[in-house]
Amino acid sequence: MVRTTSTKGGKNRDKDALAKAQQAVNSIHPCLRLTVSKRARRMALRLDPAARVVHLIVPHRASMERALDFARQNKLWVEKRLEDLPEPVPFVDGAVLPIMGHNVTLHIHYDPKLKMTDIELKPRTLIVKTNKEDVAPRIKRFLRQLASDAITEMAHEKAKQIDRNKKIQSITVRDTRSRWGSCSEDGKMSFSWRLIFAPSLAMDYVIAHEVAHLKVMDHSQRFWTQCEKLSDDFDFGYDWMQKNGHSLMRFGQDA
Ligand SMILES: [Zn+2]
Repeated sequence: MVRTTSTKGGKNRDKDALAKAQQAVNSIHPCLRLTVSKRARRMALRLDPAARVVHLIVPHRASMERALDFARQNKLWVEKRLEDLPEPVPFVDGAVLPIMGHNVTLHIHYDPKLKMTDIELKPRTLIVKTNKEDVAPRIKRFLRQLASDAITEMAHEKAKQIDRNKKIQSITVRDTRSRWGSCSEDGKMSFSWRLIFAPSLAMDYVIAHEVAHLKVMDHSQRFWTQCEKLSDDFDFGYDWMQKNGHSLMRFGQDA
């Protein structure tokens, strides 16, 4: 049970209780992560394909006993969902990465005598010269910057086609888990860096979608008409993201 108490040391006791609960959850399945949520109204299981874990969401007033029962009852579902995830493609020497529609082979040359890491994208190869034993985070940063540059350019290009005073305020490219892109009322956009692994026309559709939101916030017919107008190939892009979007999560994961 997670108790809430205002006495001194109560916080630590809560922490201990949480750690114990997490242990109990892990004994049901090692890839289950306990999340106690103030906003959640009911217990739920949520797959995180990038981290290859399943979050057990528990409302903060719910009993931990019931949460554990819930997890036990759904153990097969958890196993199945994790099994169905596409094979991860870690950033290791020889890995093939589809970068904006072109297959690029990763070549990592490790030399401890080097002063720094140097990354260069060629038409068919991504050449990494490094003194780091684990260069994956550096490669991720490089690709994230590449995604940011490409997305920013395309988004501004599309925004020019919209006759509206409201402009793009900012574009951030981040490690999003649940959405490929978003656009706020005041024109702040964010995109997943993993869109760099989608075919160009699919990335184009996601950008067109968010730019169309500058004009129409909802998903009405008027919105879709606008989105189609801004897309290079709406049908292809939309279908590709629907069918294959989840597979983008496998890049840059550890095997
Ligand atoms: Zn939308």
